[in-house]
Amino acid sequence: MTSLRNLPGIDALLRDSGELAARHGHDRTVCALRHVVEQARQAFLSGTRMPDSAALITQAAALLDRETRPTLRPVINASGVIIHTNLGRAPLSEAAQAAVQAMGGYSTLEYDLEPGVRGKRDRHLERLLVDVTGAEAGMVVNNNASAVLLALTALAQGREAVISRGQLIEIGGSFRVPDVMQQSGAIMIEVGTTNRTWLRDYASAITDNTAVIVRAHASNFQIVGFTEAVPLVDLAALAHEHGLIVLDDIGSGALIDTARFGLSHEPMAQESLAAGADLVMFSGDKLLGGPQAGIIIGRADLIDMLKQHPLARAVRADKLCLAGLSATLEHYRRGDALDRVPVWRMISLPPDVLRERAERWAAAVGGDVIQSESTVGGGSLPGDTLPTWALSPRVDQPNAAAAQLRRNDPPVIARVAHDRLLLDPRTVLPGQDEPLLAAVKALESCT
Ligand SMILES: *Cc1c(COP(=O)(O)O)cnc(C)c1O
Repeated sequence: MTSLRNLPGIDALLRDSGELAARHGHDRTVCALRHVVEQARQAFLSGTRMPDSAALITQAAALLDRETRPTLRPVINASGVIIHTNLGRAPLSEAAQAAVQAMGGYSTLEYDLEPGVRGKRDRHLERLLVDVTGAEAGMVVNNNASAVLLALTALAQGREAVISRGQLIEIGGSFRVPDVMQQSGAIMIEVGTTNRTWLRDYASAITDNTAVIVRAHASNFQIVGFTEAVPLVDLAALAHEHGLIVLDDIGSGALIDTARFGLSHEPMAQESLAAGADLVMFSGDKLLGGPQAGIIIGRADLIDMLKQHPLARAVRADKLCLAGLSATLEHYRRGDALDRVPVWRMISLPPDVLRERAERWAAAVGGDVIQSESTVGGGSLPGDTLPTWALSPRVDQPNAAAAQLRRNDPPVIARVAHDRLLLDPRTVLPGQDEPLLAAVKALESCT
């Protein structure tokens, strides 16, 4: 008969546990072994059978794996939301991923090879930005929130910044235009109403202390019905007549027209410049399809002022970002963005291709292929959807099944709609079919 005396000692377990201590460190492993032995002791006292050494080691290994697993992990996005803010926004192109990887060691980040002297990190992307957008100059910062903050601080601190009440927006993750204004030290002058703002509203707000007119794109909501907004051309004409600067926060920063794919038209960087904006700011990881970054393009004299402002140092982009963004922008310069930038490849996928893939999945693991809708996400194009075909595995409890898919390794993020579990092929990257289907297969055995 087993008794408490048969419980193996920690030293013996440690000796038998092979790689465990090498993988997790001696102290942490001892701690885990003690924990599972104590649990076994308690369980034994209440009548449970004593596990053997091998079982205790397996339990300790599982405990250590759980404890040390990073919380930042890759996932399979089967939700059909292309720029999923919670899932890291834009997935990078293969070239961009390779570029990031290549920057792991030393680089020419701030080094000019020819003379062998210190260089500027700003210079790596400027030419590309100019080529791709047609702007006079450009720079890259940490994200679009910093881009807006930097522009306002450098150009309007202690002076007035005029903005329509309809554009006092909040973007997820607490980017709020009024707060950014306050942080920058600009004096915010609100004009018009929530739904209607006229050119005369702006005109009558201009004083000797006005520095800029700001336009912010209402990325993630729509005002419909009795509305009026001033076209950028008119705003720019008014501003320039008074020697003022127009700052245009376009948010997502499309370089390709979303209307080509049956979506609403998302403001494009090129259009904004053409309409007379002096500086245009947008994100690197929304519709551009690159890494987290803030891009500022426009007048060279203003970009120079921004580069020289002390805040620029605090919001500068790192080498991994610059490398990934550079490779992403190259796709636009070469003209292969629709094929190579995942966000655009996903947007442009025709329904019959999606249906074929969903049917291949169904043939492998069962379930129904049903018509559904993907979205662009990332606070872009609210209300717009793209027709898709999704695999709907037959499960009794879709929410429980979705939770189980999230526990898979790698985690799979599905969508539940109309009481059905849905896996949308649009956002599942090439090469992820196999792990996805394995996760779905594992569902069948538990539900
Ligand atoms: C998304 C967005 C921002 C914030 O951009 P980040 O890159 O997330 O910092 C600012 N303004 C608008 C209009 C946006 O859509």
